[in-house]
Amino acid sequence: MSVPLLSVERLCVAYGRVEAVRDVSLAVPQGSIVAILGPNGAGKTSLLGAIMGVLRSRGRAAFDGQPLEGRRVEQRVADGMSLVPEKRELFVTMSVEDNLRLGGFRRRGSAEFGRTLEEMWRLFPRLQERRAQLAGTLSGGERQMLAMARALMSRPRLLMLDEPSLGLAPLIVKDIFRTVAELRRTGVSILLVEQNARAALELADYGYVLENGCVVLEGPASELRQDERVIAAYLGIK
Ligand code: ATP
Repeated sequence: MSVPLLSVERLCVAYGRVEAVRDVSLAVPQGSIVAILGPNGAGKTSLLGAIMGVLRSRGRAAFDGQPLEGRRVEQRVADGMSLVPEKRELFVTMSVEDNLRLGGFRRRGSAEFGRTLEEMWRLFPRLQERRAQLAGTLSGGERQMLAMARALMSRPRLLMLDEPSLGLAPLIVKDIFRTVAELRRTGVSILLVEQNARAALELADYGYVLENGCVVLEGPASELRQDERVIAAYLGIK
């Protein structure tokens, strides 16, 4: 078997005495979409933060076979990892286009930079229409699109998405998920944290269920969709 793009072994995150993530192991194979499900406070955001290197953690993680230990956030971005945070964290007083330019600052001035920007306009036509608009005036769905596009400007091989559907209307969620599927077709692997378990399991290849910081269940998404515990806790009555 080939080396997974991301592998995490017995990762732990603690805030003082609160253990938010406990001994979590997971893998994201090349070209796949992996979903992490779980209730509020399960540790999903902390897990992504630890993988990206914005939070301190214990345990082991490797990207493309190379240990992540000791690598700073900006090095992880250069390696090909990118995170779209739950709160989007846009530069609200800057235009849509300037937000994207900042996302790709490492490559600015290069031909690839211009190509990537064009690609973002193609992937998110609504953003192109609003390229001069201030990010703070965008709708919730547009903000999520901008946060994704900004993360994609660094041309990641692994895109981590924290609750991309949060607070968005169903039609917009469909749009966002369609874009995630398209990204996978272009070769980007995805680690997706979602409370919308139904949508996530339709899209993902594999899933993990996190509760109280621990993985309590994992398997191919097609199996998790049929699992009685998942149906009872996350999918409701069909
Ligand atoms: P949600 O879906 O509500 O965002 P989550 O699954 O992403 O939840 P986390 O945000 O990772 O969960 O939180 C996991 C646990 O860690 C929670 O008990 C939370 O209160 C705690 N926690 C998170 N951030 C901090 C912090 N900065 N300081 C102290 N405790 C924290």
